[in-house]
Amino acid sequence: MMMQVDVVVIGAGAAGLMCAAQAGYRGRSVLLLDNAKKPGRKILISGGGRCNFTNHQAGPHAFLSGNPHFCKSALARYTQQDFIDLVDRHGVNYHEKTLGQLFCDESAKEIVEALLTECEWAGVTQQYQTEVLAVSKGDDGFLLDTSKGEIRCHSLVVATGGLSMPKLGATPYGFKLAEQFGLQVLPTRAGLVPFTLHQAEKDAFADLAGVSLPVVVTAEDGTSFKEAMLFTHRGLSGPAILQISSFWLPGQKIHINLLPDLDIPAAIKGWAEAHPAQELKTVLGRELPKRFVDKLVELGQLVNKPMRQYNERELAAIANLLRDWPILPNGTEGYRTAEVTLGGVDTNELSSKTMEARKVTGLYFIGEVVDVTGWLGGYNFQWAWSSGWVAGQYC
Ligand code: FAD
Repeated sequence: MMMQVDVVVIGAGAAGLMCAAQAGYRGRSVLLLDNAKKPGRKILISGGGRCNFTNHQAGPHAFLSGNPHFCKSALARYTQQDFIDLVDRHGVNYHEKTLGQLFCDESAKEIVEALLTECEWAGVTQQYQTEVLAVSKGDDGFLLDTSKGEIRCHSLVVATGGLSMPKLGATPYGFKLAEQFGLQVLPTRAGLVPFTLHQAEKDAFADLAGVSLPVVVTAEDGTSFKEAMLFTHRGLSGPAILQISSFWLPGQKIHINLLPDLDIPAAIKGWAEAHPAQELKTVLGRELPKRFVDKLVELGQLVNKPMRQYNERELAAIANLLRDWPILPNGTEGYRTAEVTLGGVDTNELSSKTMEARKVTGLYFIGEVVDVTGWLGGYNFQWAWSSGWVAGQYC
């Protein structure tokens, strides 16, 4: 039997759940469908199972997009405070970790449950394990041929997310649908993702796996982040590296300040005067993980001797290395471990006020499928909530 609804939302992730509830509250009949068994799988695993659901500092500055202005309207109309209010209404306890990042005290499940409750209150029908086989558009809306039968709808919202974590069911479906309707899709690549190293560096740093240190890391375009860097068995990770990966292109170096809180030349001069008999390794070992200092010496990047034996030129060279330790990544771990997908449906194709496709009435794109990607720290969920909420007011 043919099903007829006002709105079909494809994708019961963060953006789709928010949008479906909002459209339902407007009195629209809404069908939320997903090819997975359950909703919100990425929410469930996010933030180490505690979901970093937004950030106090969320704002357009924290997003990458071909058009940096595009996200402004949605972020202003449904803010982090609006989502915090929703979380409060559902009695979810949370805390601020660092840098404005809000995490659930207990479990990410509570965020999914809150959104499912909203959908229930709004009268949204949900259908899982449903494949959309074909979509066509007529004068009065869309016809969807699905693995569970045909569905007609006036508005179609695409909330199928990005390509990261294919194990969790990520598909390029949203991009394909955009192309089917003649919308431009910008090239995609993995973001918020660890770096792999060339074999020589990989071997050299393998025994540092687990060592973490605070750094400032800078990309070739000048973007920089001050957070922790972590050595892994495969290369480099940690928040600083995930952040900068979104600004990195193959073949480029990243530049790492290993002592970001110090005026390094002045500090080295001070150490040389205060501890002339101590070796560089000993002095630096008070500021940096000892295993890392040993490694820099082992690799010949630092020459170890008593501080009094360095001349001015040598001290300046040490300062330069510590201030700008260059790394040439081999690549990234790709979509397998990436938190997000950069690129996607070109924002020039969409109205920033409604998220509707400019050239296809009734077709909306929200969340990660759109070329708007946040920094690490709850920004990507905020984009999902904001873009989903906005589309929910119009679809
Ligand atoms: P998704 O949440 O990915 O939802 C897309 C939905 O569409 C899924 O349910 C999927 O099953 C469905 N779907 C896909 N293809 C089809 C199809 N062909 N037919 C039907 N349904 C389909 N962001 C943060 O802000 N904070 C965090 O703490 C955080 N942690 C993360 C941790 C990990 C490991 C990962 C991978 C990501 C994390 N992110 C985090 C990013 C965040 O999860 C995403 O940006 C966000 O989920 C995007 O929301 P979305 O609704 O656009 O897509």
